[in-house]
Amino acid sequence: MLPEETIAAISTPIGPGGIGIIRISGQGALAIADRLVSTKKGKISSKPSHTITLAKIIDSATQDVIDEVLITVMKAPNSYTREDVVEINCHAGAFTMKKILDATLKEGARLAEPGEFTRRAFLAGRIDLTQAQAVISLIQARSEAAARAAASQADGQVSRKIMVLREELVRIAAELEAAVDFADEDIETMSTGKTSKELKKVAYELEELLRKAKRGKFLDEGITAAIVGRPNVGKSSLLNALMMEDRAIVSPYPGTTRDIVEARIQMDGIPIIMKDTAGWRAPMDDVEAQGLDRTKKAIQAVDLIVLVLDGSEQLKPEDKELMGQLSHEERTVTVINKADLPQKMDVARLPRYLRKDPIISISAKQGDGLDLLGQLIGSRSGFSKEPEGNEAFLTSASQESSLVNAKTRLDEASAAHDEGFGEEIMSALVKEAIVGLGEIVGTDANEEIIRQIFKRFCVGK
Ligand code: GDP
Repeated sequence: MLPEETIAAISTPIGPGGIGIIRISGQGALAIADRLVSTKKGKISSKPSHTITLAKIIDSATQDVIDEVLITVMKAPNSYTREDVVEINCHAGAFTMKKILDATLKEGARLAEPGEFTRRAFLAGRIDLTQAQAVISLIQARSEAAARAAASQADGQVSRKIMVLREELVRIAAELEAAVDFADEDIETMSTGKTSKELKKVAYELEELLRKAKRGKFLDEGITAAIVGRPNVGKSSLLNALMMEDRAIVSPYPGTTRDIVEARIQMDGIPIIMKDTAGWRAPMDDVEAQGLDRTKKAIQAVDLIVLVLDGSEQLKPEDKELMGQLSHEERTVTVINKADLPQKMDVARLPRYLRKDPIISISAKQGDGLDLLGQLIGSRSGFSKEPEGNEAFLTSASQESSLVNAKTRLDEASAAHDEGFGEEIMSALVKEAIVGLGEIVGTDANEEIIRQIFKRFCVGK
Protein backbone atom coordinates (compact mmCIF):
# COMPACT_ATOMS: atom_id res chain seq x y z
CA MET A 1 0.00 0.00 0.00
CA LEU A 2 1.27 3.46 -0.86
CA PRO A 3 1.85 5.67 2.15
CA GLU A 4 -1.05 8.12 2.36
CA GLU A 5 -0.16 11.72 1.89
CA THR A 6 -0.44 13.86 4.97
CA ILE A 7 -3.19 16.44 4.66
CA ALA A 8 -3.80 19.73 6.43
CA ALA A 9 -6.55 22.33 6.54
CA ILE A 10 -8.05 25.08 8.62
CA SER A 11 -10.96 23.33 10.33
CA THR A 12 -12.76 26.26 11.89
CA PRO A 13 -14.64 29.01 10.03
CA ILE A 14 -12.53 31.92 8.89
CA GLY A 15 -13.53 35.08 10.70
CA PRO A 16 -13.03 36.79 14.00
CA GLY A 17 -13.31 34.36 16.90
CA GLY A 18 -11.52 33.12 19.98
CA ILE A 19 -9.61 30.17 18.59
CA GLY A 20 -8.97 28.58 15.26
CA ILE A 21 -7.91 25.01 14.58
CA ILE A 22 -5.54 23.72 11.95
CA ARG A 23 -5.83 19.99 11.54
CA ILE A 24 -3.13 17.71 10.16
CA SER A 25 -3.71 14.04 9.44
CA GLY A 26 -1.53 11.27 8.05
CA GLN A 27 1.72 9.45 8.56
CA GLY A 28 3.75 12.64 8.49
CA ALA A 29 1.57 14.61 10.90
CA LEU A 30 3.76 14.16 13.97
CA ALA A 31 7.03 14.79 12.14
CA ILE A 32 5.59 17.95 10.58
CA ALA A 33 4.47 19.15 14.00
CA ASP A 34 7.97 18.48 15.37
CA ARG A 35 9.47 20.69 12.69
CA LEU A 36 6.93 23.49 13.19
CA VAL A 37 7.24 24.12 16.86
CA SER A 38 9.53 24.78 19.66
CA THR A 39 8.40 23.45 23.01
CA LYS A 40 10.10 23.66 26.33
CA LYS A 41 9.66 19.95 26.95
CA GLY A 42 10.54 17.58 24.14
CA LYS A 43 9.14 16.77 20.75
CA ILE A 44 5.44 16.69 19.89
CA SER A 45 5.88 13.19 18.47
CA SER A 46 7.07 11.93 21.83
CA LYS A 47 3.92 13.08 23.62
CA PRO A 48 1.40 10.42 24.60
CA SER A 49 -1.78 10.26 22.50
CA HIS A 50 -4.63 12.53 23.54
CA THR A 51 -2.53 15.09 25.33
CA ILE A 52 -2.26 18.81 24.85
CA THR A 53 1.03 20.68 24.73
CA LEU A 54 1.71 24.39 24.88
CA ALA A 55 4.11 25.36 22.11
CA LYS A 56 5.27 28.15 19.84
CA ILE A 57 4.99 27.91 16.07
CA ILE A 58 8.17 29.17 14.48
CA ASP A 59 8.50 30.65 11.00
CA SER A 60 11.32 28.56 9.51
CA ALA A 61 12.47 31.37 7.22
CA THR A 62 12.77 34.12 9.81
CA GLN A 63 12.78 32.12 13.06
CA ASP A 64 10.04 34.50 14.26
CA VAL A 65 7.26 33.21 16.48
CA ILE A 66 4.04 33.03 14.45
CA ASP A 67 1.78 32.21 17.37
CA GLU A 68 1.64 30.57 20.75
CA VAL A 69 -0.60 27.55 20.42
CA LEU A 70 -1.97 24.44 22.06
CA ILE A 71 -1.23 21.24 20.20
CA THR A 72 -3.43 18.20 20.55
CA VAL A 73 -1.92 14.87 19.55
CA MET A 74 -4.15 11.92 18.63
CA LYS A 75 -2.15 8.93 17.53
CA ALA A 76 -3.33 6.27 15.08
CA PRO A 77 -5.61 4.44 15.26
CA ASN A 78 -7.39 6.41 17.99
CA SER A 79 -8.30 9.46 15.96
CA TYR A 80 -11.08 10.72 13.69
CA THR A 81 -9.29 9.49 10.56
CA ARG A 82 -7.55 6.55 12.30
CA GLU A 83 -4.30 8.17 11.20
CA ASP A 84 -1.95 10.27 13.32
CA VAL A 85 -3.78 13.55 13.83
CA VAL A 86 -2.37 16.80 15.15
CA GLU A 87 -4.65 19.73 15.87
CA ILE A 88 -3.13 23.14 16.38
CA ASN A 89 -5.31 25.47 18.44
CA CYS A 90 -4.18 28.95 17.56
CA HIS A 91 -5.50 32.49 17.72
CA ALA A 92 -8.26 32.78 15.19
CA GLY A 93 -7.03 35.62 13.04
CA ALA A 94 -7.27 34.76 9.34
CA PHE A 95 -3.67 35.87 8.83
CA THR A 96 -2.27 33.73 11.67
CA MET A 97 -4.21 30.66 10.62
CA LYS A 98 -3.14 31.02 7.02
CA LYS A 99 0.49 31.41 8.07
CA ILE A 100 0.41 28.28 10.21
CA LEU A 101 -1.33 26.35 7.44
CA ASP A 102 1.30 27.52 4.95
CA ALA A 103 4.01 26.39 7.35
CA THR A 104 2.50 22.86 7.50
CA LEU A 105 2.37 22.77 3.70
CA LYS A 106 5.99 23.86 3.51
CA GLU A 107 6.91 21.04 5.85
CA GLY A 108 5.33 18.47 3.53
CA ALA A 109 1.58 18.36 4.10
CA ARG A 110 -0.88 18.72 1.23
CA LEU A 111 -3.97 20.94 1.44
CA ALA A 112 -6.97 18.73 2.25
CA GLU A 113 -9.89 18.54 -0.15
CA PRO A 114 -13.42 19.25 1.06
CA GLY A 115 -14.51 16.49 3.43
CA GLU A 116 -11.22 14.63 3.09
CA PHE A 117 -10.78 14.04 6.82
CA THR A 118 -14.23 12.48 7.03
CA ARG A 119 -13.59 10.59 3.79
CA ARG A 120 -10.47 9.07 5.36
CA ALA A 121 -12.51 8.13 8.42
CA PHE A 122 -14.93 6.38 6.04
CA LEU A 123 -12.19 4.63 4.05
CA ALA A 124 -10.53 3.50 7.27
CA GLY A 125 -13.85 1.91 8.22
CA ARG A 126 -14.28 4.09 11.28
CA ILE A 127 -17.62 5.45 10.10
CA ASP A 128 -20.00 4.32 7.37
CA LEU A 129 -21.73 6.43 4.75
CA THR A 130 -24.86 7.18 6.76
CA GLN A 131 -22.64 8.42 9.54
CA ALA A 132 -20.61 10.53 7.11
CA GLN A 133 -23.79 12.07 5.75
CA ALA A 134 -24.97 12.67 9.29
CA VAL A 135 -21.78 14.64 9.94
CA ILE A 136 -22.79 16.99 7.10
CA SER A 137 -26.36 17.20 8.36
CA LEU A 138 -25.08 18.00 11.83
CA ILE A 139 -22.92 20.82 10.50
CA GLN A 140 -25.77 22.19 8.42
CA ALA A 141 -28.62 21.54 10.86
CA ARG A 142 -30.99 24.46 10.88
CA SER A 143 -33.02 23.43 13.90
CA GLU A 144 -32.56 21.77 17.23
CA ALA A 145 -34.58 18.71 16.21
CA ALA A 146 -32.54 18.29 13.02
CA ALA A 147 -29.30 18.48 14.95
CA ARG A 148 -30.50 15.82 17.37
CA ALA A 149 -31.55 13.43 14.61
CA ALA A 150 -28.26 13.95 12.79
CA ALA A 151 -26.34 13.30 15.98
CA SER A 152 -28.01 9.96 16.54
CA GLN A 153 -27.52 9.04 12.90
CA ALA A 154 -23.86 9.93 13.24
CA ASP A 155 -23.81 7.49 16.12
CA GLY A 156 -24.60 4.74 13.61
CA GLN A 157 -28.09 3.72 14.68
CA VAL A 158 -29.60 3.86 11.20
CA SER A 159 -26.69 1.94 9.72
CA ARG A 160 -26.98 -0.82 12.27
CA LYS A 161 -30.67 -1.27 11.48
CA ILE A 162 -30.00 -1.32 7.74
CA MET A 163 -27.08 -3.70 8.14
CA VAL A 164 -29.28 -6.16 10.03
CA LEU A 165 -31.91 -6.05 7.28
CA ARG A 166 -29.23 -6.40 4.62
CA GLU A 167 -27.78 -9.46 6.35
CA GLU A 168 -31.25 -10.97 6.46
CA LEU A 169 -31.61 -10.43 2.71
CA VAL A 170 -28.19 -11.94 2.06
CA ARG A 171 -29.32 -15.06 3.92
CA ILE A 172 -32.59 -15.21 1.97
CA ALA A 173 -30.78 -14.69 -1.35
CA ALA A 174 -28.40 -17.53 -0.49
CA GLU A 175 -31.31 -19.86 0.17
CA LEU A 176 -33.00 -18.84 -3.05
CA GLU A 177 -29.76 -19.53 -4.92
CA ALA A 178 -29.51 -22.93 -3.31
CA ALA A 179 -33.06 -23.66 -4.43
CA VAL A 180 -32.08 -22.70 -7.99
CA ASP A 181 -28.96 -24.88 -7.92
CA PHE A 182 -30.82 -27.91 -6.63
CA ALA A 183 -33.97 -27.36 -8.67
CA ASP A 184 -33.40 -30.52 -10.71
CA GLU A 185 -32.38 -32.66 -7.79
CA ASP A 186 -34.52 -34.13 -5.17
CA ILE A 187 -33.11 -32.12 -2.31
CA GLU A 188 -35.50 -30.31 -0.09
CA THR A 189 -34.75 -26.63 0.16
CA MET A 190 -36.62 -23.96 2.03
CA SER A 191 -40.08 -23.38 0.65
CA THR A 192 -40.52 -20.22 -1.37
CA GLY A 193 -43.72 -19.56 0.59
CA LYS A 194 -41.67 -19.05 3.72
CA THR A 195 -39.16 -16.94 1.81
CA SER A 196 -41.91 -14.73 0.49
CA LYS A 197 -43.16 -14.15 4.06
CA GLU A 198 -39.67 -13.25 5.18
CA LEU A 199 -39.29 -10.83 2.30
CA LYS A 200 -42.56 -9.15 3.22
CA LYS A 201 -41.29 -8.73 6.75
CA VAL A 202 -38.10 -7.02 5.59
CA ALA A 203 -40.15 -4.87 3.18
CA TYR A 204 -42.33 -3.82 6.11
CA GLU A 205 -39.28 -2.79 8.13
CA LEU A 206 -38.00 -0.77 5.19
CA GLU A 207 -41.40 0.90 4.98
CA GLU A 208 -41.03 1.92 8.63
CA LEU A 209 -37.60 3.36 7.93
CA LEU A 210 -39.07 5.29 5.01
CA ARG A 211 -41.73 6.77 7.22
CA LYS A 212 -38.95 7.97 9.46
CA ALA A 213 -37.02 9.19 6.45
CA LYS A 214 -39.94 11.48 5.68
CA ARG A 215 -39.55 12.92 9.14
CA GLY A 216 -35.83 13.20 8.52
CA LYS A 217 -36.60 15.24 5.41
CA PHE A 218 -38.79 17.57 7.45
CA LEU A 219 -35.94 17.94 9.91
CA ASP A 220 -33.42 18.67 7.23
CA GLU A 221 -35.41 20.80 4.86
CA GLY A 222 -38.36 21.98 6.90
CA ILE A 223 -42.09 21.62 6.48
CA THR A 224 -43.53 23.76 3.71
CA ALA A 225 -46.67 25.66 4.57
CA ALA A 226 -48.79 28.18 2.65
CA ILE A 227 -50.81 30.94 4.27
CA VAL A 228 -54.02 31.40 2.28
CA GLY A 229 -57.07 33.63 2.68
CA ARG A 230 -58.97 36.42 1.02
CA PRO A 231 -57.38 39.88 0.91
CA ASN A 232 -57.04 41.78 4.20
CA VAL A 233 -57.59 38.91 6.62
CA GLY A 234 -54.01 39.45 7.83
CA LYS A 235 -51.90 36.95 5.91
CA SER A 236 -48.89 39.22 5.54
CA SER A 237 -49.29 40.40 9.11
CA LEU A 238 -49.20 36.77 10.26
CA LEU A 239 -46.03 36.04 8.31
CA ASN A 240 -44.44 39.21 9.67
CA ALA A 241 -45.46 38.34 13.21
CA LEU A 242 -43.93 34.87 12.86
CA MET A 243 -40.74 36.37 11.53
CA MET A 244 -40.56 38.85 14.42
CA GLU A 245 -40.91 36.03 16.92
CA ASP A 246 -37.98 34.34 15.35
CA ARG A 247 -35.82 37.18 14.20
CA ALA A 248 -32.54 35.40 14.73
CA ILE A 249 -32.86 32.75 12.07
CA VAL A 250 -35.30 34.28 9.66
CA SER A 251 -34.16 34.89 6.15
CA PRO A 252 -37.02 36.55 4.32
CA TYR A 253 -36.67 36.71 0.61
CA PRO A 254 -39.13 37.69 -2.05
CA GLY A 255 -40.44 34.93 -4.24
CA THR A 256 -40.00 35.01 -7.96
CA THR A 257 -43.29 36.84 -8.08
CA ARG A 258 -44.39 39.87 -6.17
CA ASP A 259 -47.24 38.07 -4.55
CA ILE A 260 -45.70 34.98 -2.98
CA VAL A 261 -43.18 35.74 -0.30
CA GLU A 262 -41.56 33.05 1.73
CA ALA A 263 -39.57 32.90 4.92
CA ARG A 264 -37.69 30.17 6.67
CA ILE A 265 -38.77 30.21 10.28
CA GLN A 266 -38.63 27.93 13.25
CA MET A 267 -41.79 27.38 15.30
CA ASP A 268 -41.72 25.26 18.40
CA GLY A 269 -38.40 23.78 17.26
CA ILE A 270 -39.79 22.85 13.84
CA PRO A 271 -38.18 24.30 10.72
CA ILE A 272 -40.88 25.70 8.44
CA ILE A 273 -40.72 27.30 5.04
CA MET A 274 -43.76 29.56 5.22
CA LYS A 275 -45.20 31.08 2.06
CA ASP A 276 -47.55 34.02 1.97
CA THR A 277 -49.88 33.81 -1.03
CA ALA A 278 -51.88 36.29 -3.06
CA GLY A 279 -55.29 37.18 -1.62
CA TRP A 280 -58.03 34.81 -2.67
CA ARG A 281 -60.71 36.59 -4.67
CA ALA A 282 -62.24 36.56 -8.12
CA PRO A 283 -59.52 38.02 -10.35
CA MET A 284 -60.15 41.53 -11.63
CA ASP A 285 -57.46 41.37 -14.32
CA ASP A 286 -54.76 39.23 -15.84
CA VAL A 287 -52.21 39.91 -13.14
CA GLU A 288 -54.64 38.85 -10.44
CA ALA A 289 -55.61 35.78 -12.43
CA GLN A 290 -51.97 34.77 -12.56
CA GLY A 291 -51.62 35.41 -8.84
CA LEU A 292 -54.58 33.17 -8.13
CA ASP A 293 -53.10 30.49 -10.33
CA ARG A 294 -49.88 30.59 -8.41
CA THR A 295 -51.74 30.42 -5.13
CA LYS A 296 -53.58 27.32 -6.33
CA LYS A 297 -50.27 25.74 -7.34
CA ALA A 298 -48.71 26.64 -3.99
CA ILE A 299 -51.65 24.97 -2.22
CA GLN A 300 -50.99 21.80 -4.19
CA ALA A 301 -47.30 21.73 -3.43
CA VAL A 302 -47.03 22.39 0.29
CA ASP A 303 -47.12 19.99 3.24
CA LEU A 304 -49.58 22.15 5.12
CA ILE A 305 -52.13 24.91 4.45
CA VAL A 306 -52.77 27.66 6.98
CA LEU A 307 -56.22 29.08 6.19
CA VAL A 308 -56.65 32.57 7.62
CA LEU A 309 -60.10 34.05 8.33
CA ASP A 310 -60.90 37.45 9.80
CA GLY A 311 -62.76 36.98 13.09
CA SER A 312 -63.82 40.62 13.23
CA GLU A 313 -66.04 40.16 10.21
CA GLN A 314 -68.65 37.72 9.09
CA LEU A 315 -67.74 35.14 6.48
CA LYS A 316 -67.61 36.59 2.97
CA PRO A 317 -68.31 34.79 -0.31
CA GLU A 318 -64.53 34.58 -1.00
CA ASP A 319 -63.99 32.88 2.37
CA LYS A 320 -66.69 30.40 1.53
CA GLU A 321 -65.31 29.73 -1.90
CA LEU A 322 -61.86 29.10 -0.52
CA MET A 323 -63.22 26.80 2.18
CA GLY A 324 -65.05 24.92 -0.56
CA GLN A 325 -61.76 24.48 -2.39
CA LEU A 326 -60.12 23.11 0.72
CA SER A 327 -62.98 20.86 1.76
CA HIS A 328 -61.15 17.69 0.74
CA GLU A 329 -57.86 18.70 2.30
CA GLU A 330 -56.41 16.85 5.23
CA ARG A 331 -53.60 19.32 5.50
CA THR A 332 -55.35 22.42 6.80
CA VAL A 333 -54.96 24.42 9.99
CA THR A 334 -57.60 27.13 10.31
CA VAL A 335 -56.61 30.41 11.92
CA ILE A 336 -59.16 33.00 12.99
CA ASN A 337 -57.22 36.24 13.08
CA LYS A 338 -57.81 39.63 14.68
CA ALA A 339 -58.80 38.15 18.05
CA ASP A 340 -58.01 41.58 19.57
CA LEU A 341 -61.06 43.09 17.83
CA PRO A 342 -64.71 42.42 18.72
CA GLN A 343 -65.55 39.09 17.15
CA LYS A 344 -68.32 38.81 14.57
CA MET A 345 -67.56 35.42 13.12
CA ASP A 346 -69.75 32.61 14.33
CA VAL A 347 -67.34 29.69 14.58
CA ALA A 348 -70.23 27.28 15.07
CA ARG A 349 -71.40 28.22 11.58
CA LEU A 350 -68.18 27.29 9.88
CA PRO A 351 -68.66 24.34 7.56
CA ARG A 352 -68.67 21.02 9.34
CA TYR A 353 -65.46 19.79 7.67
CA LEU A 354 -63.60 22.85 8.89
CA ARG A 355 -64.81 22.43 12.44
CA LYS A 356 -63.26 18.99 12.51
CA ASP A 357 -59.90 20.57 11.79
CA PRO A 358 -57.82 22.31 14.39
CA ILE A 359 -59.05 25.91 14.65
CA ILE A 360 -57.13 28.52 16.54
CA SER A 361 -57.81 32.10 17.40
CA ILE A 362 -54.87 34.50 17.08
CA SER A 363 -53.97 38.12 16.80
CA ALA A 364 -51.24 38.67 14.26
CA LYS A 365 -51.12 42.29 15.34
CA GLN A 366 -50.48 41.55 19.01
CA GLY A 367 -48.69 38.25 18.54
CA ASP A 368 -51.23 36.24 20.54
CA GLY A 369 -51.69 32.53 19.89
CA LEU A 370 -48.57 32.09 17.76
CA ASP A 371 -46.98 29.48 20.07
CA LEU A 372 -50.10 27.39 19.93
CA LEU A 373 -50.16 27.77 16.16
CA GLY A 374 -46.63 26.33 16.03
CA GLN A 375 -47.70 23.31 18.07
CA LEU A 376 -50.76 22.80 15.87
CA ILE A 377 -48.67 22.93 12.73
CA GLY A 378 -46.37 20.36 14.27
CA SER A 379 -49.10 17.91 15.15
CA ARG A 380 -51.01 18.46 11.93
CA SER A 381 -48.01 17.68 9.74
CA GLY A 382 -47.23 14.53 11.68
CA PHE A 383 -44.08 16.13 12.96
CA SER A 384 -43.14 15.29 16.49
CA LYS A 385 -40.06 16.91 17.88
CA GLU A 386 -39.04 13.95 19.94
CA PRO A 387 -37.18 11.18 18.14
CA GLU A 388 -39.26 8.03 18.09
CA GLY A 389 -37.67 5.52 20.42
CA ASN A 390 -33.94 5.35 20.04
CA GLU A 391 -33.97 5.31 16.31
CA ALA A 392 -32.70 7.98 14.05
CA PHE A 393 -33.61 9.11 10.60
CA LEU A 394 -32.26 9.18 7.12
CA THR A 395 -31.63 12.74 6.22
CA SER A 396 -30.67 12.80 2.60
CA ALA A 397 -32.58 12.44 -0.63
CA SER A 398 -30.13 9.90 -2.07
CA GLN A 399 -30.47 7.63 0.96
CA GLU A 400 -34.22 7.88 0.72
CA SER A 401 -34.28 6.95 -2.96
CA SER A 402 -31.97 3.97 -2.39
CA LEU A 403 -34.33 2.82 0.33
CA VAL A 404 -37.38 3.23 -1.90
CA ASN A 405 -35.65 1.23 -4.63
CA ALA A 406 -34.70 -1.57 -2.26
CA LYS A 407 -38.25 -1.81 -0.97
CA THR A 408 -39.70 -1.81 -4.51
CA ARG A 409 -37.40 -4.71 -5.49
CA LEU A 410 -38.61 -6.70 -2.49
CA ASP A 411 -42.25 -5.99 -3.34
CA GLU A 412 -41.52 -7.18 -6.86
CA ALA A 413 -39.86 -10.32 -5.53
CA SER A 414 -42.93 -11.09 -3.41
CA ALA A 415 -45.18 -10.42 -6.38
CA ALA A 416 -43.00 -12.70 -8.53
CA HIS A 417 -43.52 -15.44 -5.98
CA ASP A 418 -47.28 -14.88 -5.87
CA GLU A 419 -47.45 -15.07 -9.65
CA GLY A 420 -45.58 -18.35 -9.68
CA PHE A 421 -42.22 -17.16 -10.99
CA GLY A 422 -39.20 -19.19 -9.94
CA GLU A 423 -36.46 -18.64 -7.41
CA GLU A 424 -34.10 -17.31 -10.02
CA ILE A 425 -36.11 -14.15 -10.62
CA MET A 426 -36.78 -13.66 -6.91
CA SER A 427 -33.11 -14.04 -6.14
CA ALA A 428 -32.10 -11.47 -8.77
CA LEU A 429 -34.54 -8.94 -7.29
CA VAL A 430 -33.40 -9.61 -3.74
CA LYS A 431 -29.79 -9.09 -4.81
CA GLU A 432 -30.70 -5.70 -6.25
CA ALA A 433 -32.31 -4.78 -2.95
CA ILE A 434 -29.12 -5.85 -1.16
CA VAL A 435 -27.09 -3.51 -3.35
CA GLY A 436 -29.60 -0.71 -2.65
CA LEU A 437 -29.18 -1.09 1.09
CA GLY A 438 -25.43 -1.39 0.65
CA GLU A 439 -25.42 1.97 -1.10
CA ILE A 440 -26.96 3.59 1.93
CA VAL A 441 -24.37 2.34 4.40
CA GLY A 442 -21.51 2.41 1.91
CA THR A 443 -20.67 -1.28 1.53
CA ASP A 444 -21.85 -1.22 -2.08
CA ALA A 445 -21.39 2.47 -2.73
CA ASN A 446 -19.56 3.21 -5.93
CA GLU A 447 -16.93 5.88 -6.30
CA GLU A 448 -19.50 8.31 -7.75
CA ILE A 449 -21.85 8.06 -4.78
CA ILE A 450 -18.96 8.56 -2.40
CA ARG A 451 -17.71 11.54 -4.37
CA GLN A 452 -21.17 13.14 -4.35
CA ILE A 453 -21.42 12.80 -0.62
CA PHE A 454 -18.05 14.23 0.27
CA LYS A 455 -18.47 17.07 -2.20
CA ARG A 456 -21.00 18.59 0.17
CA PHE A 457 -18.44 18.99 2.90
CA CYS A 458 -16.39 22.06 3.54
CA VAL A 459 -12.60 21.98 3.55
CA GLY A 460 -11.27 21.07 6.97
CA LYS A 461 -14.02 18.63 7.94
P1 GDP B 1 -53.49 40.34 3.88
O1 GDP B 1 -54.04 41.07 2.73
O2 GDP B 1 -54.31 39.13 4.20
O3 GDP B 1 -52.04 40.03 3.76
O4 GDP B 1 -53.69 41.28 5.16
P2 GDP B 1 -52.67 42.25 5.87
O5 GDP B 1 -51.70 41.49 6.66
O6 GDP B 1 -52.16 43.22 4.88
O7 GDP B 1 -53.64 42.96 6.90
C1 GDP B 1 -54.79 43.68 6.49
C2 GDP B 1 -55.14 44.70 7.56
O8 GDP B 1 -55.54 44.03 8.76
C3 GDP B 1 -53.98 45.57 7.95
O9 GDP B 1 -54.46 46.87 8.17
C4 GDP B 1 -53.48 44.98 9.25
O10 GDP B 1 -52.88 45.94 10.11
C5 GDP B 1 -54.77 44.45 9.86
N1 GDP B 1 -54.53 43.32 10.76
C6 GDP B 1 -53.87 42.17 10.46
N2 GDP B 1 -53.88 41.35 11.54
C7 GDP B 1 -54.53 42.00 12.52
C8 GDP B 1 -54.87 41.66 13.88
O11 GDP B 1 -54.55 40.58 14.42
N3 GDP B 1 -55.59 42.57 14.58
C9 GDP B 1 -55.96 43.76 14.05
N4 GDP B 1 -56.65 44.59 14.83
N5 GDP B 1 -55.65 44.11 12.79
C10 GDP B 1 -54.96 43.24 12.03
